[in-house]
Amino acid sequence: MHIREFQEMIKDIYFHKDRKRGVERTFFWLVEEVGELAEAIRKGDKEAMDEEFADVLAWLASLANLLGIDLEKAAEKKYPGVCPYCGKKACECEE
Ligand SMILES: [Mg+2]
Ligand SMILES: [Zn+2]
Repeated sequence: MHIREFQEMIKDIYFHKDRKRGVERTFFWLVEEVGELAEAIRKGDKEAMDEEFADVLAWLASLANLLGIDLEKAAEKKYPGVCPYCGKKACECEE
């Protein structure tokens, strides 16, 4: 599945609810899911990590749908196969 297909799938399932919730509350949900991911990583819980990575991706897609952002296009534009800062693959930027 491509990023665009995933985003479209999330739109088909959740857009009617995302629209009612609005951008701000959807953003808070995304942040909450990032917190859940942090907890899963801290606990070393691999099964929970799978779930929370998926949640973060889903809420990111919901937020992008609300704001009319094409995630795949945006990602490819900023990351065209090399580091956007040093232009290298692999990146040679100082940390
Ligand atoms: Mg979650
Ligand atoms: Zn770099």
